[in-house]
Amino acid sequence: MASDRLKNLAPIRTLGQMARIEPGWVRLYCETAGCGHHAALPLAPLVVRWGPAAPRRWLLTRFRCSKCGRRNTSIRMPSNLGSHGYEPFPDAQ
Ligand SMILES: [Zn+2]
Repeated sequence: MASDRLKNLAPIRTLGQMARIEPGWVRLYCETAGCGHHAALPLAPLVVRWGPAAPRRWLLTRFRCSKCGRRNTSIRMPSNLGSHGYEPFPDAQ
């Protein structure tokens, strides 16, 4: 659910920009009807692998859903828990 306390951030175009923003990870959701698979994805290893100038859209085009096999993902930021900060990276998938 979207928070009404979100800041109006400038457009994010690269992985390097995304990785500098708390909390440094995102969720990729499979948008295929009936699938609903999702996975937490730390950004730092991708910046190492692809470089900080790698375009944000690579997150959408370079991952295939491990459940249904399609490339139909969306990026979702972890929940902001207010005074508790961002939701921690999940330990187990
Ligand atoms: Zn899927």
